Amino acid sequence: MKRILFGTALVLALSGCSGDAAEVSDAPHESPGRTMTHLTVENLDILPEVEVIDGVTYMDGILIVNEDYELPQDYNPGLLQEVIDAYTEMTSAGADEGLQFVMVSGFRTYQEQEQLYNDYVAREGQEEADQYSALPGHSEHQSGLAFDIGSTVSASTIDVSFEDTPEYEWMKDAAHEYGFIIRYQEGKEDITGINFEPWHLRYVGVEAATEMYDEGLVLEEYLRIR
Ligand SMILES: [Zn+2]
Repeated sequence: MKRILFGTALVLALSGCSGDAAEVSDAPHESPGRTMTHLTVENLDILPEVEVIDGVTYMDGILIVNEDYELPQDYNPGLLQEVIDAYTEMTSAGADEGLQFVMVSGFRTYQEQEQLYNDYVAREGQEEADQYSALPGHSEHQSGLAFDIGSTVSASTIDVSFEDTPEYEWMKDAAHEYGFIIRYQEGKEDITGINFEPWHLRYVGVEAATEMYDEGLVLEEYLRIR
């Protein structure tokens, strides 16, 4: 698995010398669980531009939250208007095809995620919880850019999974046109750190979403951090 060291990328981005290979040190790094990728002239050029604004990390202007990058406890934007607008546009287009979507879960605060995670741990144990629930600060639902979607049928019964509905069948090839990616893809679990979730949409804008869709990339691959 290819992982590029965040610290070095950040230093380079901040010092504005990301094109300069000569400055890069590949001294051993202390972070446990991180694999060091030796930076070369070749892969230096393709590192994302990293910015940290009020504790929120953006790469090439795209907010990133995953098991490695967290959001501050007080980051509390609510579901952003551009996301609501894109959702409305997409589900209206779906309705024209006779499809009925519902938003199952939208914005979640740090504290709500903490509660959810703790409940999961209490019920299923930590190992199981870690597979299905993000740690507080590590859920995309706190970003205001992500939500869970369902069909009216799948959302009202546990007998039908969203993956098997005509709504999902349509959405998987249409979501990018509205700026959404299916964030946690099948077969990419090792990269995203999350099991396949056909229902979890993340807004990244039409251009990035279309590029990821066309090339079959998840966000970490698109940003060249895995
Ligand atoms: Zn979700």
